[in-house]
Amino acid sequence: EASANYYCITSDDVKQLLKPRAKFSHKGSYGHALLMCGGYGKMGAAVLAARACLRSGVGLLTMHVPTSGYSILQTAVPEAMTLTDKHKLFISELPEDTEKYTAIGMGPGMGKEKVTKTAIGQLLATSTHPMVIDADAINIIASSDRLKAQLPKNKVIFTPHPKEFERLVGKSKNHYDRLEDMREFCREYSCYIALKGANTAIGTPEGKVYFNTTGNAGMATGGTGDVLTGVISALVAQGYALEEACILGVFVHGLAGDLALQKVGAIGMVASDLVDHLPQAFMMLA
Ligand code: AMP
Ligand code: MG
Repeated sequence: EASANYYCITSDDVKQLLKPRAKFSHKGSYGHALLMCGGYGKMGAAVLAARACLRSGVGLLTMHVPTSGYSILQTAVPEAMTLTDKHKLFISELPEDTEKYTAIGMGPGMGKEKVTKTAIGQLLATSTHPMVIDADAINIIASSDRLKAQLPKNKVIFTPHPKEFERLVGKSKNHYDRLEDMREFCREYSCYIALKGANTAIGTPEGKVYFNTTGNAGMATGGTGDVLTGVISALVAQGYALEEACILGVFVHGLAGDLALQKVGAIGMVASDLVDHLPQAFMMLA
């Protein structure tokens, strides 16, 4: 019986997951995230993911962006270190020394250029890191059976919205079948999927499905998914297991949206409002 594997995420579950910070810890205790994000006309996605990552407790953050994104990142996010790609407008290569990062997030604002596909192929072939794969990085992988076959087992979290999900997993007959198709895909590739929307559904390689219970329709606006990529990448970088990072990430992201709702309402809400409310959301769970 499939429904026996369906769960709702409660705030008590999430409170149990959240790790307190030890008095004698230091930034090295909280991981080093690498985010490969941004492209021409979409550097805002990289900025949102970076700001969200830093507001989610990561020890260090390095951004890898196209050359033309350098000043944008350094100005908008002083806390992040910024590395530049040799390509002016898009990501076309991996940064040096990818081994030192404890999580790699990618996708927001990236575009689907051929050079970017090559870079993602190199990453999948060489990296043993846990990865958070969103947006155009999902679209690129969805378009290539070769890349899909290279996905490392138990290392990948996908965060598709419904359109990206359909490209990656295929078209489902109805909303119930879509959840079953998600379970099947997560089993086959030993990956995690956070299928975003109202009540985001998380699929695991073991066939569990978790439903988020936070969030609101004010979050249906550009950039809120990029914020989620930053949040989950930060949690994975800090050493949360992939399943925990998905559960905690979608819950706190939705909670930040619910706190923003009290301040600015649904109509005026923008993705930056979520970033601004992440600290309060984490405080409510501590
Ligand atoms: P994206 O489409 O990648 O920007 O992601 C949108 C984000 O906003 C995801 O985290 C969704 O779960 C969230 N979101 C969008 N619409 C709603 C809604 N009606 N209710 C709750 N959350 C939503
Ligand atoms: Mg998105």
